[in-house]
Amino acid sequence: MTSLSGATRLAGVVGRPVRHSLSPLIHNAWLAAAELDGAYVALSPTEEGFPHLIEGLRGSSFVGFNVTLPFKEAALAAADQASQRARLAGAANLLLFAEDGTVQADNTDGEGLLGAFAAQAPGFNPAAGPVVILGAGGAARGAAAAFFLAGAPRIRLVNRTKARAEAIARALGEPVQAFGWSDLPNLLDDAAAVINATSLGLEGHALLDIDLFGLPKTSPVMDMVYRPLRTRLLDDAARAGHPTVDGLEMLILQAAPSFEALFGQPPPAVDMRALALRALEQAP
Ligand code: NAP
Repeated sequence: MTSLSGATRLAGVVGRPVRHSLSPLIHNAWLAAAELDGAYVALSPTEEGFPHLIEGLRGSSFVGFNVTLPFKEAALAAADQASQRARLAGAANLLLFAEDGTVQADNTDGEGLLGAFAAQAPGFNPAAGPVVILGAGGAARGAAAAFFLAGAPRIRLVNRTKARAEAIARALGEPVQAFGWSDLPNLLDDAAAVINATSLGLEGHALLDIDLFGLPKTSPVMDMVYRPLRTRLLDDAARAGHPTVDGLEMLILQAAPSFEALFGQPPPAVDMRALALRALEQAP
């Protein structure tokens, strides 16, 4: 990191818990490689403290924040303006502070998601056919919004609690449809991609155990979970011959437009995947 000065541009990630976030590693590596006078820290306010944090830092030397669980919805509510993709996602993962004190909300998660497909399953066209998204939490809604904006003809949200999927379908409208978990086998035959946006498969959570039978072999399978990097879902999909897309690629590719918005230039060339993989391997 460059030494800090009175002119250092400050940014960070706000979440709770936040100590395992890879965002400080990613952004500080880019700042160092670009030799920018900036620093990126992790902040972990209480739920009640979050709006006060944003309010108090308006117009300050902080240029903005990435936002992660559980504050993404609150971040959208705290902003003065929001991009279309943040409004559709119902959540913000990026707050930009202007010098005049206004706060702009954006959401780069969808860009990261589609960028990960472009990088790891380059033949995939999001507008080519129905996509199946497992989950109906914040990540699933963000993914649905990204595919909606990319022109997917059908977006099938499959969730344990069907009512949550129905709420997203109501908010986004056509072409989003809601299903319960038991409907999954009937939704795969013509699917162009399957995306896990549940927390199943995440370290410390139950495994995601689904049958991909019927899914066309050319259709990629994506897992947003990146701890572990190779989930059971991705291993099963690769064994069955599907292209696979991992959550680490999405994480890095949502960080890149965030960095550009925060620090005014695109990230420099750094082998960020190798750096992040080393950090994941060393994590306790
Ligand atoms: P969330 O709002 O807490 O949603 C969790 C989802 O998982 C819900 O749909 C929930 O279903 C489902 N679920 C949890 N336990 C389940 C179980 N035992 N059986 C069936 N379904 C279950 O979380 P989120 O913010 O959407 O995040 C979801 C995942 O995406 C997390 O693993 C997160 O780390 C990952 N993520 C990755 C990136 C990235 O850049 N790679 C970005 C964002 C999120 P119910 O509605 O029925 O409870």
